[in-house]
Amino acid sequence: MKYIDEFRDGAIARKIAERMAVEVDPARKYSFMEFCGGHTHAISRYGIAELLPDNVRMIHGPGCPVCVLPIGRIDLAIRLALERGAIVCTYGDTMRVPASDGLSLTKAKARGGDIRMVYSGADALDIARREPEREVVFFAIGFETTTPPSAVTIRQARDEGLKNFSVLCCHVLTPSAITHILESPEVKQYGTVPIDGFVGPAHVSIVIGSGPYEGFAADYRKPVVIAGFEPLDVMQAILMLVRQVNDGRAEVENEFTRAVGREGNAFAIASMADVFDVRASFEWRGLGQVPASALRIRERYAGFDAERRYDLAYRAVADHPQCECGAILRGTRTPTQCKLFGNVCTPETPMGSCMVSSEGACAAHYAYGRFRDIPVVAA
Ligand code: SF4
Repeated sequence: MKYIDEFRDGAIARKIAERMAVEVDPARKYSFMEFCGGHTHAISRYGIAELLPDNVRMIHGPGCPVCVLPIGRIDLAIRLALERGAIVCTYGDTMRVPASDGLSLTKAKARGGDIRMVYSGADALDIARREPEREVVFFAIGFETTTPPSAVTIRQARDEGLKNFSVLCCHVLTPSAITHILESPEVKQYGTVPIDGFVGPAHVSIVIGSGPYEGFAADYRKPVVIAGFEPLDVMQAILMLVRQVNDGRAEVENEFTRAVGREGNAFAIASMADVFDVRASFEWRGLGQVPASALRIRERYAGFDAERRYDLAYRAVADHPQCECGAILRGTRTPTQCKLFGNVCTPETPMGSCMVSSEGACAAHYAYGRFRDIPVVAA
């Protein structure tokens, strides 16, 4: 299949691996963070870590949209369904993320909440049109990839004069999260998470372009290579990062030129700017409060803002005490360092958000990597 098979060619992957083995400096270690959950999934699924030289290490980042959603935000959506009688619509993965009191949206649905899985905000809008006597709330999550469709949905609701539709906006911003990681004590002061560069997001960069990464690449002297989600994209991006580190460069390079430009998608950016502005601060699971890292609905669209409409008050809630999702999202632990991994916590019984979405580090390792953890015993 065009644009798929040619980026999954094992022979080419081995050639890139051989090239990398020649080019790495054996006297140093290389640590790169793949920010995006799609890359985490690709690295696990295609065994990319096993193809890398021993001194090249990948660190999972916080770029899985379901994983970084804090419990308090899911609680708000559950309250809307159970206490306010709203139809709450959201993406499938979000339904299973553990919330307070042993609940999740799926369990709240079993308790009688009218919670429906949708593929987009447009589906939620359809429900609002079909059921004008009911209040419909779209629980909108995700990075810049899913934000433009939410903006278009809100504008559509305004244009149609819908009075029973609103959005619980939990959209977050990629560049602020990367900056926050680089400012974290683990990276900046203690060096417990040594990061030499980033594999930059694919879908997000289609929307925002490569330009927004230039500031912190220069300020923090960290190279960024934007990569597609296929295994050869990721391998090539890692080789490009190795070369930048060897050359002492800290630039933004674009491996994913077939979809990403410097300026991004002008219509999507304008739609986002029209409907949303930046929150002063927002809680991320694992990262805590991150300044200027999420969006809220602008005053001119206040009628479609579920937080204003229902006068919702946010309450932060701590994760399960044994769940290591926070540390995994900060790059300080790996899934197998969590005591619950694979026994109490599995994709069928997730105890934390990283085990829910296929982009989560725990779910990806459970699906593809756990077999490699078992030592091979000689016959
Ligand atoms: S294995 Fe489960 S409990 Fe442990 S960090 Fe991952 S999601 Fe959290």
